Amino acid sequence: MRIIDLRSDTVSLPTPQMRRAMAEAELGDDVFGEDPTVNRLEQLAAQMLGKEAALFTASGTMSNLVALLTFCGRGDEVVLGNESHIFNNEVGGAAALAGVQLRTAPNTPDGKLPLQAVEACFRGPNIHFPPVRLLCLENTHNRCGGAVLSAQDMGAMAAVARRHEAAVYLDGARIFNAAVALGCEARDLAREADAVSFCLSKGLACPAGALLCGSQDFIARARKNRKMVGGGMRQAGVLAAPGIVALETMVARLTEDHDNARLLAQGLCDLPGLEIDPRTVRSNIVAVTVNGLPAPELQQRLEERGLRASFMGGPRLRFVTHYGIWRDDIERALEIVWECLPK
Ligand SMILES: *Cc1c(COP(=O)(O)O)cnc(C)c1O
Repeated sequence: MRIIDLRSDTVSLPTPQMRRAMAEAELGDDVFGEDPTVNRLEQLAAQMLGKEAALFTASGTMSNLVALLTFCGRGDEVVLGNESHIFNNEVGGAAALAGVQLRTAPNTPDGKLPLQAVEACFRGPNIHFPPVRLLCLENTHNRCGGAVLSAQDMGAMAAVARRHEAAVYLDGARIFNAAVALGCEARDLAREADAVSFCLSKGLACPAGALLCGSQDFIARARKNRKMVGGGMRQAGVLAAPGIVALETMVARLTEDHDNARLLAQGLCDLPGLEIDPRTVRSNIVAVTVNGLPAPELQQRLEERGLRASFMGGPRLRFVTHYGIWRDDIERALEIVWECLPK
């Protein structure tokens, strides 16, 4: 039985071209700055994101942690959405390791933050208050169903932070999905932030890694913080090599994932007991509300028939399309969901 694994785009496997690039990568000790493949990946990433420099990290979580360590000192406050990945899915590393205080503003279902709510988080210079150092945005927005934020929307939120002399960070784990959905370049979105990270290991199908991009000075300090958290890897070129292949060949194809996600959402919205507005599906994530049975029970039934989804808490399941999933798989997935729903 073919397993259709839509739990996450992180389950995507590297392409044959990536495997070859890994085997043949020119290597050196990256802690000494001597891995030519890592250096090439960092230059390419910086160029594509429109920043001066970039840093290769082990994961998106490490990029986010290193960014917090670099922007903030102990006890500084960071404003971010209550549905953000940094707040929900990074094991409290912001508090435990970066020593920052997170202040959430309520995300709207489309992944934005109401401007008044952001404004209200900046409390002014009273002696009792922590300094609010940073605003974090997320695009595409994972827990908001892969919502795509326009440069204009990001700019409006960033402007509030800037008025209060705070920096702006973009958790752009799936920024290329956002850019492809909007028909713009990733740098057009990254421009709204002082620094940005993106993952290689999601829709771009690499085995591991993320890049943190920003100014020359920011990345120099981030490099030291990466070393501090144990992220100085040596012949990391074996992991950077597929990243170069990904940036050169795997960005434009993300539209296939978006088309498959839309097809899935359109099929799901017609099924009894499922709630999803296909018009809100603009990238590769389909978050659906399950009525009539507990979401984990539907998840279990799907699993038994070879369709994997992830449980988002409450009544929601998540399906993520990615490299290795074809239109036929989506059609089969819809049949399986239909078979598993109570009638
Ligand atoms: C996946 C993800 C991360 C973390 O990436 P890992 O490589 O899994 O650590 C961070 N932010 C967002 C929005 C994500 O979707």
